[in-house]
Amino acid sequence: MKRKISILGSTGSIGRQALEVIEKLEDKFEIIALSGGSNVELLKQQALKFRPKYVCIGNKNAQKTEIPETEIIYGEEGLEQICSDKENDIILVAVSGKIGLKPTLKAIESGIDIALANKETLVMAGEIVMQKAKNAGVKIIPVDSEHCAIHQCIKNISQVEKLIITASGGPFLKKTIDDMKSATVEQALAHPKWNMGKKITIDSATLMNKGLEIIEAHHLFNIDYDKIDVVVHPQSVVHSAIEYKDGSVIAQLGLPSMHIPIQYAICYPERFEGIKSKSFSFSEIARLDFEKPDYEKFPALNMAYNAGKQGTGATTILNAANEESVFEFLDGKIKLYDIYKIVENMLNVFSGEKPLSIDEIFDLDKNVRIKTQEYILHGLEKKVFLP
Ligand code: MG
Repeated sequence: MKRKISILGSTGSIGRQALEVIEKLEDKFEIIALSGGSNVELLKQQALKFRPKYVCIGNKNAQKTEIPETEIIYGEEGLEQICSDKENDIILVAVSGKIGLKPTLKAIESGIDIALANKETLVMAGEIVMQKAKNAGVKIIPVDSEHCAIHQCIKNISQVEKLIITASGGPFLKKTIDDMKSATVEQALAHPKWNMGKKITIDSATLMNKGLEIIEAHHLFNIDYDKIDVVVHPQSVVHSAIEYKDGSVIAQLGLPSMHIPIQYAICYPERFEGIKSKSFSFSEIARLDFEKPDYEKFPALNMAYNAGKQGTGATTILNAANEESVFEFLDGKIKLYDIYKIVENMLNVFSGEKPLSIDEIFDLDKNVRIKTQEYILHGLEKKVFLP
């Protein structure tokens, strides 16, 4: 029987690669729904090829379109409608940003398994999401390559001593702090190993992406922050590892391609040949290097550990302030290193916030974004802290 799947964010980098995987495995999957933001033309092409029951256009102001035998739905309500459709066996949540959170919760409520590529869902509301998934007996299979690697290595979490998350180090691995401070948008976007969307590429340059992944790992695997290590591994072949209590280390390796973790997550617990392009060769790779991260050059790591230990409020603040800052950096309004400064300030300004519900998390997220914008407009040049 075919596995019925919906893809939230099918026009993005992960979504497009997921469709490449599904095209290869067309006898294994049937697509229920696709969703995209504003790229209606691509969404339409995808729908004509994969024939979903419905297509959701996220941006209600995007151009109108018609697709034969396909219902068109819109906005966040559309995403929630998809996630309420119990015909789905699994939903790939590959939208970027906080928009992934509510549909994920809706899918959990509906008892539908989730392949999760959206970091914000766990960074903002990891405790609530994982608890609800546990109660509903819903599986959350990580698509993020590091977490997907750990998912493949872990058999019994109670036997695990620590998680070892690898980081490629990004484009500034061999550069100085001063190089980073004067970095252009182009330099920050030039990721040596992974071809991804712009937001996550900047997060990889600041290592904030790794910071968010530390928080993600804490929630996914229910493990203390003190038991999550980061190691820089420039080749991006070891995607992460775990150390068991007896000292045995199990790592997952593979060529740096997102097709593999996407395919793992949507096929779990089965495995198929799918899109595998070439066989893995240790002798061709020849060497694998590892080094300690530079915590001074990349303060995002300690910011994430500290925010994670403080809990949901702090991780929501970290995420919101970072995201707003990254867009301003991409827009040329601030420098790369300002991102750290802004995030740190927002963590101070909003310290003590402890949102208890999803609504309170969204309120905090909104307030942090407003304050971040104010700070970028008025506070950054004057080097003042906001009240
Ligand atoms: Mg990752």
